[in-house]
Amino acid sequence: MAVGPKKRLADYGLNSERLLWPTKGPGVFETELGELEDKLMLSTVQKAVAWAQGSSIWPDTFGLACCAIEMMSIVSSRYDIARFGMEKFSSSPRQADLLIVSGRVAHKMAAPLRQVYDQMLEPKWVIAMGACASSGGMFNNYTILQGVDKIVPVDIHVPGCPPRPEALMEGIVRLHEKVLAGVPPAYQIRGAAS
Ligand code: SF4
Repeated sequence: MAVGPKKRLADYGLNSERLLWPTKGPGVFETELGELEDKLMLSTVQKAVAWAQGSSIWPDTFGLACCAIEMMSIVSSRYDIARFGMEKFSSSPRQADLLIVSGRVAHKMAAPLRQVYDQMLEPKWVIAMGACASSGGMFNNYTILQGVDKIVPVDIHVPGCPPRPEALMEGIVRLHEKVLAGVPPAYQIRGAAS
């Protein structure tokens, strides 16, 4: 198997502290990690980063209609999404890397939705929950966006009207599998401007 150029953790995206200060060099933490890699001769750093990312995804809710009720229930003790490292289920895009769009998206809401998506830090993922978010559902009319993938890149579509919480959790588990397998987020596949 061909061996590519050696990469350090910082090359895989552990550079968040430089987001607001692009010209700043590597932090002490990154430097120490790089030295640690050299000492331990780690060969599966990419897997470790993917495992960390996939095991600590924090969702940002974007509930727009009936599907949102099903989405809200996944934080309850019955479904307990905290089992997947997703304790923080917030409405703040700055502390979230998974946008769950649940419900029909009116054209009026397209711009705010895209703004929320743009405010999320990378890497980030999107789940379109339900028929309406995925394709407009039964609302084939001039007011409803016929699929949220027209304004944001979608990683997982969860079918149903509404999907049960179990279906959403199935979608989340599938997303974890994609992340752990090293599949890039949809915006990287479609292009940053998508
Ligand atoms: S998919 Fe069904 S349950 Fe979900 S928002 Fe549309 S109409 Fe409501």
